[in-house]
Amino acid sequence: IYILGIESSCDDTAAAVLCNGKIQSNIVATQQVHQQYGGVVPELASRAHQQNIVPVIHQAIAKANIGKKEISAIAFTRGPGLMGSLLVGTSFAKSLAMGLGIPLIEVNHMQAHILAHFIEEEGFKKPAFPFLAMTISGGHTQIVKVNDYFSMEVIGETTDDAVGEAFDKSAKILGLPYPGGPLVDKYANEGDPKAFKFPKPKVSGLNFSFSGFKTAVLYFIEKQTREDPDFIEKNLKDICASIQYTIVEILMDKLKKAVKETGINRVAIGGGVSANSGIRNALYDAEKRYKWQCFIPKFEYTTDNAAMIAIAGHYKYLKKEFSDFSTTAQARYKI
Ligand code: ATP
Ligand code: FE
Repeated sequence: IYILGIESSCDDTAAAVLCNGKIQSNIVATQQVHQQYGGVVPELASRAHQQNIVPVIHQAIAKANIGKKEISAIAFTRGPGLMGSLLVGTSFAKSLAMGLGIPLIEVNHMQAHILAHFIEEEGFKKPAFPFLAMTISGGHTQIVKVNDYFSMEVIGETTDDAVGEAFDKSAKILGLPYPGGPLVDKYANEGDPKAFKFPKPKVSGLNFSFSGFKTAVLYFIEKQTREDPDFIEKNLKDICASIQYTIVEILMDKLKKAVKETGINRVAIGGGVSANSGIRNALYDAEKRYKWQCFIPKFEYTTDNAAMIAIAGHYKYLKKEFSDFSTTAQARYKI
């Protein structure tokens, strides 16, 4: 079974080909135009998708070394995401499936971030059901009870900002370019995580909140730079390490609570922030300390990619869950 996956929900245009769940190609074109604005500009994102989608799909098919006729089905991101961005992938997927006379399969982007763990990869185990998945990305922060491939239950989520935003907004306050998450991670590795103390929010149950955290970082930096204009420059690594330490603690506190409440100790992470070394190390530690079974994705499957869309498509293909050609993109789309 050859599945072509297409992803265009935010600012990455991506296409991938899987053969029976194994990667044949995984192409991502990350849009650079947004950097100068310090965040994704939706209008520019959809235009860039229009430019990139044909070459990206050509590349994915060429790299997989197959002909278009060998593709069994087209899987695409229906949502959630930016409407203008989603429309490009959705329309393209529909036309291509129609032209080739093959099934069209719609995929939920957040389910795909979780199902990335089912891509056939040497040295990577697949989680057994049920398991807990913490999806930590640019737009979401959720703890999901995964009962089956497409039977998922959100048991906790953010009430305001996503954790990726907490990273990116903190980075912006420090004057780092967008998206700042990976840079905070990089500097954090050389800093002292206990150098500065940031507050952890008090949120009930398994929910999260990050808007207060961001404000706390802002006030702290404003106060310190009033006293010493070079404060950031002198302490960048320690600030980043302290920010990352606090965010990882916030995530791990809730994850521990979720494991306790559900009695499930198989824990997976997914989404862009699962590339973060702090959260990855915290999970390796939890394997030893609490005997959890942890599932940490390969780096290329953390931030947006089409391989995860293709694997979700693969499992829907096995169930013959095909979409109608009248299907539409959906900006808000529950797991
Ligand atoms: P969503 O999946 O919720 O629709 P998205 O698709 O825009 O949002 P992803 O591509 O999954 O988000 O993740 C992007 C986010 O991951 C950004 O906020 C980015 O800063 C963050 N990120 C990526 N790498 C790291 C890292 N090493 N440390 C911290 N954050 C990171
Ligand atoms: Fe994403």
